[in-house]
Amino acid sequence: MVGMPLFMDGATATGERISYARVFIEIKANKELPNKIRLQLEEGDEMDVDIAYEWISPICKNRKTFGHVEHLCLQRRFGFLRLRIQKIKLLILIIRETLFLKGMEF
Ligand SMILES: [Zn+2]
Repeated sequence: MVGMPLFMDGATATGERISYARVFIEIKANKELPNKIRLQLEEGDEMDVDIAYEWISPICKNRKTFGHVEHLCLQRRFGFLRLRIQKIKLLILIIRETLFLKGMEF
C-alpha cells in the first residue's frame, strides 16, 4: 500500500473511466514511494500496476517532514535559530530594562 486513500476523482469513483484510477492519498514522509503496486485480483490472480504521481509535496529527507526539501533545510533551521536569537536578545533587553528600572547595573 502506498498510503492512506482519502478520496478519488469522479470518473474513478463511478467507474466511468477504467483505463486508470486517480486517487488522492496521504503518504508518510519517511516512506519510499513505489513505481508499481501489486493488485490482488479475483480467483487469486495478481497483477503489477504502474503508478504515476501527479503531485507530491516537497519532502525533507533530513527531518522526514513535508513542506521543503533537504537543500532548504539548513536555511530553515538557521531561520529558526535567528528567530530564537532575536527572542533571546529581546529577553536580555527586557531583563536589562527591568534591572535598570530597579536601579541595578547589568
Ligand atoms: Zn528539513
